[in-house]
Amino acid sequence: MSGSALVVGGGIAGLLAARRLNQQGWEVTLAEATSVLGGTLSARFLDVPSVSDSGAVERQTLELDGGAESFAVRGAAVRALVDELGLGDDVVSPEPLGSWLHGPAGAVPAPRVGLVGIPGDLDAPDVAAALSPDGLERARRDLTEPMDRWAAARAAGDPVTVAALVADRLGDEVLERLVVPVVGGVHSADPAVVDVERVAPGLLAAAVEQGSLARGVAALRGGQTPGAAVAGVDGGMAKVSGRLVQALREDGVTVLRGVRVAALSRLGADGRWWAQISDRDEEVVRGLEADRVVLAVDGVAAWALLAPVSGDALDPGAGPALGEGVALATLVVEAPGLDAAPRGTGLLVAPGTDVRAKALTHSTAKWAWLRSVVDRPDESGAPRHPHRHVLRLSYGRHGGAAGALGFRSADEDLLAAAVADAEALTGVELSADDVLASTVTRWRRSIPPQHGPDREAMDRLIAWAQDVPGLDLVGSWVHGTGLAAVVAGVERTVAPAAA
Ligand SMILES: Cc1cc2nc3c(=O)[nH]c(=O)nc-3n(C[C@H](O)[C@H](O)[C@H](O)COP(=O)(O)OP(=O)(O)OC[C@H]3O[C@@H](n4cnc5c(N)ncnc54)[C@H](O)[C@@H]3O)c2cc1C
Repeated sequence: MSGSALVVGGGIAGLLAARRLNQQGWEVTLAEATSVLGGTLSARFLDVPSVSDSGAVERQTLELDGGAESFAVRGAAVRALVDELGLGDDVVSPEPLGSWLHGPAGAVPAPRVGLVGIPGDLDAPDVAAALSPDGLERARRDLTEPMDRWAAARAAGDPVTVAALVADRLGDEVLERLVVPVVGGVHSADPAVVDVERVAPGLLAAAVEQGSLARGVAALRGGQTPGAAVAGVDGGMAKVSGRLVQALREDGVTVLRGVRVAALSRLGADGRWWAQISDRDEEVVRGLEADRVVLAVDGVAAWALLAPVSGDALDPGAGPALGEGVALATLVVEAPGLDAAPRGTGLLVAPGTDVRAKALTHSTAKWAWLRSVVDRPDESGAPRHPHRHVLRLSYGRHGGAAGALGFRSADEDLLAAAVADAEALTGVELSADDVLASTVTRWRRSIPPQHGPDREAMDRLIAWAQDVPGLDLVGSWVHGTGLAAVVAGVERTVAPAAA
């Protein structure tokens, strides 16, 4: 069956859903509330001064990823999409410098073989370097102690948190030094409340099967090059959403920007959908009818749109709340001390230190393509700006302490903290005078909750929607955070059989 389809939301989930529906013969309209398509997968532009061959000072515009800047190579869905869009030759690996962890004991290189920070090789020198001798000895008990308790929990389908599993198998030091920074930095969550299955699908089963958590990690990571768990795209990940938009337009899909779907209703029980569409000034501009609706918005927006049409199933006043959000401070600095990439591709930060950022990415050390854009070589091939670096620091932890920096903080506060944090994290002296350009990007809705009442409300909504004909839910709050999860989830949900 086909007919007309409305896709609400123009992030990667919505763009991909629109493409698949169009390929299946649906007449597709996509509505994105903001003026930017791609959602968290979109670029930001930053002007920096640059000296030309004649010595004149010009402006150079850097195009930098505003949100996602890489994709997990596990699963093949993102890679297949990138190939399909003709970007396969542009896929690049990060520079093999490794990353670091910063905790109360200072900075240590992150173990290269790991999953959400859980080490997969307890004989590796980098694991020994990251732990105290006692901590390592405690961790090694994982290799011999029986897994009965966790096998039973798995068999009973009991929820198992990351913290409970790691502390029991590998000890508190592994949890605090290695796992807390990764789960906090990547998933904005505390491992004490995050279910293992949500952030590391299949890990509990692999650990039970292997009789050891570390061996379970190694089994899941098997076949992957150590350290190269992610890949990027030359020119930036935003090229992927850019290409998707271009393809949609070429294929005749109606792509609307600055157009918010403000309300949904149905024309008769299980009848066609009717969407009320407003412009940015919230004036209703028109209605739109469709046989099928794909909601590719965040969970809070989905609840607001669907609760009113759910009968008594979902209480409009009992939906999930907006989460903490994330603020990214991007700095372009002139700093020769960073040329040697003292912290590899960057660091994740454990709570409990003076540093207020939760992560730092040394983008020009991580991506060779960005290094050469920033270098802007002259005609002889010599870099014009060899000491120029792009650093990206993120702020905003779930349940962050009062006064912590995050989404709601002022730009000046975030940028001042970013300079001080970058100095503390890299060990390279930095001051505001070294900053050539900076910007703050805020993401309020893009990292969905992993636990708690808001997560439960979202799960209720997902369960309810499964039985509603002509409705699909896609996006990171449905499939999991990260492009690998989202792309694979859309492919499953909007597969031809589902139509
Ligand atoms: C700072 C940051 C860094 C990240 N880095 C990585 C990374 O390196 N690798 C990785 O794999 N993942 C990363 N992620 C996660 C990844 O970006 C997301 O999981 C993914 O992009 C989410 O896509 P989405 O389409 O579900 O949601 P979004 O990108 O949030 O898109 C949803 C869209 O819906 C629109 N919308 C909402 N309500 C309405 C409405 N009523 N009407 C119309 N439109 C509406 C929004 O404006 C938005 O554009 C990062 C996330 C953040 C925040």
